[in-house]
Amino acid sequence: MPNNKTHVVGGIVSFVVMFLILSQITSLAFPIIFIGLIVAIIYSLLPDIDTDVSTANNVMEKLLVAIGLISSIYYYFFSDPIALLVVIFIFIWLFFLKVLVKHRGIIHTIEAGAVFSLLLLYYSPWLFWFAFAGFLSHLLLDGELKSFSWKEIKKRL
Ligand SMILES: [Zn+2]
Repeated sequence: MPNNKTHVVGGIVSFVVMFLILSQITSLAFPIIFIGLIVAIIYSLLPDIDTDVSTANNVMEKLLVAIGLISSIYYYFFSDPIALLVVIFIFIWLFFLKVLVKHRGIIHTIEAGAVFSLLLLYYSPWLFWFAFAGFLSHLLLDGELKSFSWKEIKKRL
């Protein structure tokens, strides 16, 4: 299994490839090129948030638990419905991460990459492509460049 360093290199290579493709059709402004590089690297590491040992997952989990605790206390004192919603959402998300998602399951698919990358469309369509390229480089290096399939997911649960 490739380590994080390999994935970062993959992310940089995918950025260069995507930059060469995009520069054929448009002239990218400097901030977008720079942010595109960062985005490609982040997205080349993103699929491993479903791995217990990955740093991304550990940090996110601690953050979620902290936000959940603060929200419960806030709800206890102010009975704000939004705080309750946040707690429920975090509970579902942690359950999803801990119980349902196995490494290289649902998040290691091309579709998951598209969904995660779509979040950046709002900011810039070019960033979508850099993110998607970074994500695909991860799947390629893992040797898991595949589509979502219910059969596969059930096998992994
Ligand atoms: Zn992976």
